[in-house]
Amino acid sequence: MRSIKVQPGIMDIELYQSGAAHIEGVDNVIKLSSNENPLGPSPRAIEAYQRAGNNLHRYPSSDQIGLRSAIGEVLSLDADRIVCGAGSDEIIAFLCQAFVGPGDEVIHTEHGFAMYRISALSAGATPVEVRESERVANVDAILEACTPKTKLVFIANPNNPTGTMIGEAEIVRLADALPPQVILVLDGAYAEFVEGYDGGAALVDQRENVFMTRTFSKLYGLGSLRVGWGYGPVALVNVLNRIRGPFNLSQSALDAAEAAVRDLDYTNYCRHENEKWRTWLANGLSEIGVPSDVSQANFILARFANQAEAENCDTYLQSQGLVVRRVAGYKLPNALRITVGDESACRLVLGAIQSFKAGKK
Ligand SMILES: *Cc1c(COP(=O)(O)O)cnc(C)c1O
Repeated sequence: MRSIKVQPGIMDIELYQSGAAHIEGVDNVIKLSSNENPLGPSPRAIEAYQRAGNNLHRYPSSDQIGLRSAIGEVLSLDADRIVCGAGSDEIIAFLCQAFVGPGDEVIHTEHGFAMYRISALSAGATPVEVRESERVANVDAILEACTPKTKLVFIANPNNPTGTMIGEAEIVRLADALPPQVILVLDGAYAEFVEGYDGGAALVDQRENVFMTRTFSKLYGLGSLRVGWGYGPVALVNVLNRIRGPFNLSQSALDAAEAAVRDLDYTNYCRHENEKWRTWLANGLSEIGVPSDVSQANFILARFANQAEAENCDTYLQSQGLVVRRVAGYKLPNALRITVGDESACRLVLGAIQSFKAGKK
């Protein structure tokens, strides 16, 4: 008998269920299950990616200064306090690796993003789930759940899969009231969808205990390339840079992301298209008795009468070549998360849900 042992916590991780992309026997599926940008990335990002193809024998930039400067310029942030990751998932993993271990607690909310729990367990720490109020993060509940063992609090704002967010005053109240050993992590994966919202960057600048994560996978349409970043106080960023692999992002990814963040016109265009079709879809669903909270992101959490209706609707959508996301794993068994697609996808998915509801009655 060998005595190979797995580190504590790791076997408690359930394998991640990613958004389905295929349906047995259906050719042209419309994928509305992973919150991708239906319009794709900026054409300038694609060009930059292709240009990088001429230098595949070279190691990528290790200090990632090109991308960090571009982000810094466009969003008026201090580039020295930006750290890039292979997706913001990697930044979340760095935060857990650097700041928690066995005996420590990591708070996430009831319907919070799955990677917080996974990364906490990977680091040997204990994830602590805190209740929400009607699918919205509850600051008082988070504060009540803090113990001397709490080291990290993760809040996605807006959150996935609920699409809801809490206001700046609530975030400030939370940051101010957390015990001194706790880092508040504001996950801004969907911050770009909220016009005028900085994802918490200003708060990072004013506090020593607030860290922000961002991604190029959602509004920027570069999920395939795996580019995310974090922004924090210098002391925290210095810690993360020690564990970041020197070549954690490929040059193609860095160049494409840099071009994407500089293309403000395309970014605004995508934000407006999303807003327009999100409103159209949410209203259409509401009219046929499928309510949702007002979403601030690029998806809608459609609520059905019960779990059976949600599952039957999902099965019907699949038969029509439409893939959406079941979210029972997020403790939302009655709901389906539908990414806001382009105009034609939105019309198709609303039409299909209408038919499903009509057929049932
Ligand atoms: C999609 C998502 C991320 C991670 O995206 P990456 O592709 O790893 O950058 C992080 N947080 C939330 C809430 C998300 O929905």
